[in-house]
Amino acid sequence: MTTRLIDDTLFDSAHPPRLVGARCSGCATVVFPRQDSCPRCSQRAMSAQALPVSGYLWSWTLQAFPPKPPYRAPAGGWEPYHVGYVDLGEVLVEARLAIERSQIRIGLPVRLTTIHAYDDESGTEVLTFAFEPDQEGGR
Ligand SMILES: [Zn+2]
Repeated sequence: MTTRLIDDTLFDSAHPPRLVGARCSGCATVVFPRQDSCPRCSQRAMSAQALPVSGYLWSWTLQAFPPKPPYRAPAGGWEPYHVGYVDLGEVLVEARLAIERSQIRIGLPVRLTTIHAYDDESGTEVLTFAFEPDQEGGR
């Protein structure tokens, strides 16, 4: 089965997965996903910035209802899942959590991975990004 990433503009590389955001050359603010102007100083001086692949779980919740489109449910139907904000040092990234409920806690060291999102019309498996426990214990 072939696979593809849900949105190439979110990734600096696929194997291993690495996210790309943007850094403001005016005030050094880092954002994810990328945007054209800085949310802090409004300058249109954003350049691509590959993000660290490991960080810490900053906050989390249960996604208890299906997100709005463009979200697509997997073939087996929608099921609740955990989402969190991950502190990557210079930026907080909202992501799915590939972590057992009993393991989820604020401050948990986590590492970027990819997980199944859905299969598209051509039978290609579409992957989205998520964070899993970092067995090496983080920074
Ligand atoms: Zn700025």
